[in-house]
Amino acid sequence: MEEKESEPEHIRLVKETELYKNCTNIVIGKGNLKASILFVGEAPGKNEDEQGLPFVGRAGKNLDELLAKVGLSLGDIYIANILKCRPPENRNPLPEEIRAHTPWLIEQIKQMKPKVVCSLGNYATKFFLSEGDVDTMDKQPGITTLHGKVRYVNIGGIKVKLIPLFHPAAIIYKRDLIPLWEKDMEVVKKEIKESVEQKKLI
Ligand code: URA
Repeated sequence: MEEKESEPEHIRLVKETELYKNCTNIVIGKGNLKASILFVGEAPGKNEDEQGLPFVGRAGKNLDELLAKVGLSLGDIYIANILKCRPPENRNPLPEEIRAHTPWLIEQIKQMKPKVVCSLGNYATKFFLSEGDVDTMDKQPGITTLHGKVRYVNIGGIKVKLIPLFHPAAIIYKRDLIPLWEKDMEVVKKEIKESVEQKKLI
């Protein structure tokens, strides 16, 4: 009981959800917390739930390959999700689940202070565009319109450059998205280069 009371609010909120009660592992993130670039996906799938790590299933393998093509690996980035626990049958996240799980993501952002956030797919993109206001997520344009377009957003008091990208799981089925992803990754590379150079100046 005492231990539960001392648990940080963002962890307590997740543990109160049905998703937590039905999952095998909480999936927090992986990669380099000191990196200046954060990738954010939607939610853990079956493999992620079993292993407690994000993007280790088919979408993860695809993401690794897509990142390797532009010379990026886990040492250069950190990867997390909007939801920390797997939704049943990988269904879409519900607004109340996003509300309960994203304070943890915001804590991660405060700790990491990334310069660039790459949102993978519609849910992550809409969450960042609405600057964490779940009620206005629905009003945001979708990934098909926004991918590769850089803009500044303020999330948890941290100003980041947002680069929306297609979700790697969508690219598995729609191979015609690959050239678009590659073009978007050129934008990502340019932004990373700039933020590394900025760091050197500080
Ligand atoms: N899809 C996601 O959005 N996140 C994962 O961790 C795995 C698949």
